[in-house]
Amino acid sequence: MLEFDLIQKYFSQPIKNNPQSIKLNIGDDCAVLDLQQFKNGENLAISVDTFSENTHFLSTDNAFDIAWKALAVNLSDLAACAAEPCWFSLAIALPENLAKNSQWLQNFSDGLFACADKFNIVLIGGDTTKSEKLSITINVLGKTKNDYFLTRKAAQIKDDIWISGQVGLANLGLKLKLKNNDANNIETLLSPLWQKLCLKKLHQPTPRLDLAKLLAEQKIATSCIDISDGLWSDLSHIAEQSKVLAELNLHLLPIQPLPLVVEKNILKALDKNQQNLLRRSMLQSLLGGGDDYELCFTAKADEITRLKIAEIAAKLDLPLHRIGEIKALPENTNANNAKFVRLVDAENNEIDAKKELDLQFFTHF
Ligand code: ADP
Ligand code: MG
Repeated sequence: MLEFDLIQKYFSQPIKNNPQSIKLNIGDDCAVLDLQQFKNGENLAISVDTFSENTHFLSTDNAFDIAWKALAVNLSDLAACAAEPCWFSLAIALPENLAKNSQWLQNFSDGLFACADKFNIVLIGGDTTKSEKLSITINVLGKTKNDYFLTRKAAQIKDDIWISGQVGLANLGLKLKLKNNDANNIETLLSPLWQKLCLKKLHQPTPRLDLAKLLAEQKIATSCIDISDGLWSDLSHIAEQSKVLAELNLHLLPIQPLPLVVEKNILKALDKNQQNLLRRSMLQSLLGGGDDYELCFTAKADEITRLKIAEIAAKLDLPLHRIGEIKALPENTNANNAKFVRLVDAENNEIDAKKELDLQFFTHF
């Protein structure tokens, strides 16, 4: 199939959302957008992310999921800033066998537009090339209001730290997937329902656009980030940029009780050691695992704010968990010894997370 036929067949769709904003669309040299819909005091938010084979997904993954996730992770960046999605472009580098595989292309296209339609964003252009490995770069454009976009740099001392949803499940899903045939894989003790949930979270994350919008509109969040690399790493970006210390409370972390996630008859047969291993794996995934695309945000620690956050959680049917507190950095902090996140127990004793929990932190290099 010729390149342009491929683009026409799989990437060109009637514009469903805000068609009057698009003056020139797929098929021409540029997309041309009419920004008149941006009222006074509204800004353009832009973000780009590359999603590549073996780093972000496996070539054997379902094409629908690959496309969904490639777009969802970009939408999650818009969410972290409380921007509303408008348009996106897609640069895809395809291995020859996939470019010839119409079933694969159709699934990819279905996943891409399922996600785009769900979150009201329109594909306006892109680039299609050949390559040894599959790689997808998506550039999203969104809209923010002047005085209510969210940043990483404005967490305040005494703020509460919050996370949305079930952080850690995506990483448990990854462990299940990578250790698929390993009988000692402790995560396989999770009930079939939870295993399914974990894998769904890994393959089809939900960008928390609704949550971010409410947090910004009601001026609740003082800072915000989406959890892509893991709670510990991402929260440390908030703390570092806000020049504060983020203190997590072990007893506030939302770890599911075993009777909820392990079937009764299986749980009965587990010894203490196995129970501890499973709890530890869940805690490691919550603190160190990536791929959740939930939001971590800070907010004032007063009763009214906490009540408003509870109302938002109820309205969105999305759990919001308070997990810690922002504190001042110790006075002797300098560039060499800086530590921006710490974990404490119920008695406020510090826990050495790296040593005691054997946390693995994700970095690209
Ligand atoms: P040019 O060579 O002028 O850059 P291309 O042949 O790369 O143009 O692309 C032709 C048209 O198809 C352009 O409008 C481009 O934006 C669009 N396009 C190319 N690849 C994609 C894609 N994967 N998704 C959406 N639009 C695409
Ligand atoms: Mg081109």
